[in-house]
This record gives sequence, C-alpha cells and structure tokens, in this order.
Amino acid sequence: MSIIDQIFQAGVVGCGGAGFPTHVKYKGQIEQLIVNGAECEPLLRTDRYLMRTYATELVETLAALKSELNIEKCTIGLKEAYSDEIKALRAAIEKTGAPVELHLMPSFYPAGDEQTLVYEVTGRVVPPAGIPMDVGCVVSNVATVLAISDARKDVPFTHKFLTVTGEVKSPTILRVPLGTPVTECIRLAGGAKLSDYSVLLGGPMMGKVITREEAEGRTVIKTMSGIVLLPEDSIVVQRAETSVERMVNRARAACIRCSQCTDLCPRHLLGHPLEPHRIMRRLALEESLDTIPSEDPVLKSALLCCECGVCEIIACPMGLLPRRVNSEIKKRLGAEKIRYPKGEGQTEVHEFRDERRTATARAVARSNVQDYQSYKITSFLEADPQSVCLSLSQHIGAPCKPVVQTGDTVSEGQLIAACPEGQLGTNLHASIGGKVTVDGKSITITR
Ligand code: SF4
Ligand code: SF4
Repeated sequence: MSIIDQIFQAGVVGCGGAGFPTHVKYKGQIEQLIVNGAECEPLLRTDRYLMRTYATELVETLAALKSELNIEKCTIGLKEAYSDEIKALRAAIEKTGAPVELHLMPSFYPAGDEQTLVYEVTGRVVPPAGIPMDVGCVVSNVATVLAISDARKDVPFTHKFLTVTGEVKSPTILRVPLGTPVTECIRLAGGAKLSDYSVLLGGPMMGKVITREEAEGRTVIKTMSGIVLLPEDSIVVQRAETSVERMVNRARAACIRCSQCTDLCPRHLLGHPLEPHRIMRRLALEESLDTIPSEDPVLKSALLCCECGVCEIIACPMGLLPRRVNSEIKKRLGAEKIRYPKGEGQTEVHEFRDERRTATARAVARSNVQDYQSYKITSFLEADPQSVCLSLSQHIGAPCKPVVQTGDTVSEGQLIAACPEGQLGTNLHASIGGKVTVDGKSITITR
C-alpha cells in the first residue's frame, strides 16, 4: 500500500487547523515539506512536548515521506528559543541520518501561520487566496506527521495529545481517545480552580471561547490542540462575548483611522491587499453587516484575513475588533459563495516586515495571560474515559458514513465510519473498545 493510501486508511487530517484530509494535501508534486513546529499560541505546549519526546519518529517519518513522495526538501520550522526541542531534533537527525533541516525563527506571533511560515522558511510568498502548494510547499503540523508515523505502521488516528492549562489545578499534557468529554480532560488536570470560568478551545489568540455549560457537551476532536480555562472577566472572554451589533457600532463610532491594524497585519506585511483599517472605514458607511454589497472590493479583501487577531489584540489603540468584523464579513460572503480571485492585488513584501513582527511576549501581555505562561511540562497523563462520543464531521469535507450499527461491539482501532465514496473526507476509527450507539451526527462507544 502506498503511503498516501496508508494516510487515507488511517483517517489522518491536519491536526493544527481546519482538519483538511492529509492524503489529499499530499497528492501532487511537493517541492518542500515544512513541518510547523512554531507552536505560536501562547500557553499551548503540545507540539513542543511531541518534538522533544518523539523526535526520532518525527524525522524518520519525514525521511520516508521525502523518499516515497520524491520531495526535494523537508524542514522543521521552530523558534530559536525552543532549545530543548532543537537539541532533541538535532540528536535524532544525527542518529538516523534523516535528510531533515531545522529552520530557527525568533519568537514572534503568528510564526505558525501557514503562509507566514512558508515565507520564513523559503522566502516565497503564497499568493492572496492561494495555498502553499501554489509555491510548491505543503505545511503539516507536528502531530499530523506523528499520525502519519502511526499510519505507516497501520495504526489509525484514534488519540490526541492536548495541553490543558489556565485556571486548572495541575496544567498538563494529556493523551486522550478521540471523543473524550472536555470535562474529563479538565478533571484530569486537577479540575478548575474557579467556580465560574469560560473554556477556550485552542490558545488565547485564535481559540474559540465557549461557556462552562457549553463545554459539558463537547468532546475532543481530531483538530483540537488545547483546552484553557479562563476567568469570565478575562480580556479574551470579554472580547469574544461582544455582540456583532455592538462591535459594528463601536467600529463606526470609535475608529480613529490610525491604520495601526494594517501596519501590523501579517498578511498585509506579506504584500497581500488586506488593509483592515480600510475595511473598518468602509463598514462605517453601511447600515449593518446584513446590507454589505457582496462585490465591494474593500469588503471582499476581508476574505484574505487569517483571523490571527494581531489587529485587535495587539494593534488597535481603541479596543476595536477588526478581526471579528472580517470574520463576520467572511461568513456573509462565504454564504453567497463569493471568492477572492487568487493572486489579485499582490504587491511586494513590506520593507519593514521583519521589524513589525509581533513579539510573542507582547501577545502574551496584551492577552493578559502572563499568569499562565511560565510552566514546563515533562510528562503526560493518559485518559481512560468510560465512554466517548465521536463526531462524524471532525474534518473538512463530507461527514463520515457509519459502517457499524447501534448495539454492535467494536474494538479499539476498528473502522466505525468511512469516507463516502468519491468525496473529500476521511475515515473514523473506534478510539476505545465497547458497545456502539449511532445517531445522525456521532457514534458513542461505551466500554
Ligand atoms: S486578523 Fe487582523 S491582523 Fe490578522 S490577518 Fe486578519 S486583518 Fe490581518
Ligand atoms: S487600529 Fe483600531 S482605531 Fe486604528 S484604524 Fe484600525 S480599527 Fe481603527
């Protein structure tokens, strides 16, 4: 079986982002494979733990991919501050002779943004609305490459490593079966220190804030990288709870057109025609977001936003939310199937790009999460839940189709839902053994 088939059979999807099926991403002639080891979200530690602990598996898998897919170059991009990880990776490269290079970057945010990483490693600019493959590159997260390592041994993707931190008693890394309740992950990290808190799925810059009650219905999915508990009055939570109407009214009333949001925008600095200050100014002319004209070129440029949050968390002196504005515009244009024409409006990389990169320490301070930043994790805890609930849609593409029925008994690693024939998607496997209950959207397994 080819490595692409093994990746497909094992149900591997991108672990760091939207969950694009990895076997599709790896089709086509890849010139450079770049592993994203930047882990630029403050507070998360998972990728660093994996690079230290599984350095050999990581570089051996890259060597195999390079040889089998005829890739010219494999590079792991990580920060020069990650000294233990660099040491572990260099030792693994030396021991195995794997043809893998390290690219060291300063500590800035968002070093792990796919397009930023491609530029940092190769000097190539992914065109506006393009993908890394447009410049011969594929970017994969550390956990994704380790899932490929398992796939090569016919071990399916059934478990996730996660950071659980913030207002928990014992911040930790967990290894959990997919479908484990988020509340079980919090319990394993010693439980919450506060009675009232919000839950951040992901990091403080780009993670999704949900309430404590909403967290009770959530389970771990293939793309989840961390769980952070924050006080309800934290800046991150308050910002997420601002309503769309209030956000638009504030943008109209308080934007001083200083353009600092644009000056620091990582995509603008790469020469993409994205200028959040112009979008804010243009929005001020509209009654509401519901009435925006779909073909307006300034509003359409919001489609180029990667929602990194630099404009609102770092740049804006008025506490406005250009990222949220862009996100809402993207939703509305997306519903009308409006796309940005690939490559349109590309200019030169900004001459002050390097100087304008946002220091990670600044991102930590502006998110007000410095109290949770200084901790080191040296081991992981293994979760052993009594039951798991696996969503049939943990990835981009068509939901998986169950191949088991309610009442069946399955063993860990068994295929329980398959990619629909001829469609973009992936497979899903039992993350624990037990009795199955199937509904329209998920499969629950009880030991
Ligand atoms: S969130 Fe803001 S800073 Fe980030 S890409 Fe979008 S507009 Fe630029
Ligand atoms: S930084 Fe804030 S105030 Fe300045 S232009 Fe952007 S949104 Fe307006």
